[in-house]
Amino acid sequence: MNGSPIWHPFTQHGLREPIPQVANASGAVLHLEDGREIIDAISSWWVTTHGHAHPAIAGAIAEQAARLDQVIFAGWTHQPAEDLAAGLRAIMPDSLTRVFFSDSGSTSVEVALKMALGYWRNRRENRTRIVVMDNGYHGDTIGTMSVGARGAFNRAYEPLLFDVISVPFPEEGAEQETLDALEAACRDGAAAFIAEPLVLGAGGMLMYSAATLAEMRRICAEHGTLFIADEVMTGWGRTGTLLACEQAGVEPDILCLSKGLTGGAMPLAVTMASEPVFEAHYSTDRGEMFFHSSSYTANPVACAAANANLAIWRTEPVMQRIVDLSARQQAWLADTAQHEMVRNARQLGTITAFDVGAAEGYLSDLAPRMLKMFRERGVLLRPLGNTVYTMPPYCIDDEQLSRVYGVIGEVLDEVSN
Ligand code: PMP
Repeated sequence: MNGSPIWHPFTQHGLREPIPQVANASGAVLHLEDGREIIDAISSWWVTTHGHAHPAIAGAIAEQAARLDQVIFAGWTHQPAEDLAAGLRAIMPDSLTRVFFSDSGSTSVEVALKMALGYWRNRRENRTRIVVMDNGYHGDTIGTMSVGARGAFNRAYEPLLFDVISVPFPEEGAEQETLDALEAACRDGAAAFIAEPLVLGAGGMLMYSAATLAEMRRICAEHGTLFIADEVMTGWGRTGTLLACEQAGVEPDILCLSKGLTGGAMPLAVTMASEPVFEAHYSTDRGEMFFHSSSYTANPVACAAANANLAIWRTEPVMQRIVDLSARQQAWLADTAQHEMVRNARQLGTITAFDVGAAEGYLSDLAPRMLKMFRERGVLLRPLGNTVYTMPPYCIDDEQLSRVYGVIGEVLDEVSN
């Protein structure tokens, strides 16, 4: 064995791609050990909202780590978690009265699915099927892969995945097909419907209308099917509002949040649930409690980082930054869309995306080729197949954003030759 013993995620080590070492980061920039600077145009996989190393978040982490680093959360509590739960209650939809902690987007979704199944079981109703949307992505654990798109990512694990009912992605003009399929599944007694509101992230930054989201929610409510909104990516302002659900005026029964919950500084997630979902597990019968926990549930240091994030939302002009960034993104995207290689340019809030050249799948070599070209030019962009997207931290300045799109233009020129 040569070099590092680390086995990296989503990395084919056999291709022997360089793995740059990051020394430190601030704002929208990563500083490498070899002195290079890289602009982080995807917020380090969609987590960093206010920029790297925000002093208020870094300070809160240091302070909390010295006070109370970790404590069992089953049957115990602490102030950072209490403050965070109250803070979330104050800004998240009113009907989401309960906050359950976990540590990643995937676990927040696992928890949501288990809550939905527990809800029906404790109500003595035999509703167990989950409805999902084609091209969805909810994580890489067995449960979340089961409710996500099937393909190259999870072919080897197919025997472990449970059956779901899938409805088509609501393509513009074909939304009725999705709604009809959802209606049929709900009428049939589906337990829950899980969806990424307005933007399907890993599925290729596919966007659909708020009207469709509102209609999907209405159909679920009509049939008692629980609506699970996975806002792990779309939450915390990415789509132009705190939650994407807001744009459709809908409140889910269960909401999954992670990534920007701590401003992107610490691993933490919450699954928020409506009172009926909690009530179904509330009893004197221990057999009806919610059977889920992990060692680091509601880790105090991570909760302190999240509380600092909420304070930033309250005290800094975050929403104004989002509005400004969305406008700057719109101008750059309009410019980029002129390129002959660009198709389907699309945007929602701070997220822009477009497809390059002819349609190809995730494993087409265009993605790794472009990734390498971006990296060599000092920009962190990670295309999804032939879809290039940007999702910068809200603090990215004009010069940095101009550099990102300048590099995108250079790479488009190079792949078109
Ligand atoms: N849901 C969505 C919508 C996501 O985009 C992601 C991660 N990209 C996840 C769930 C899984 O989150 P994590 O990687 O933190 O487990």
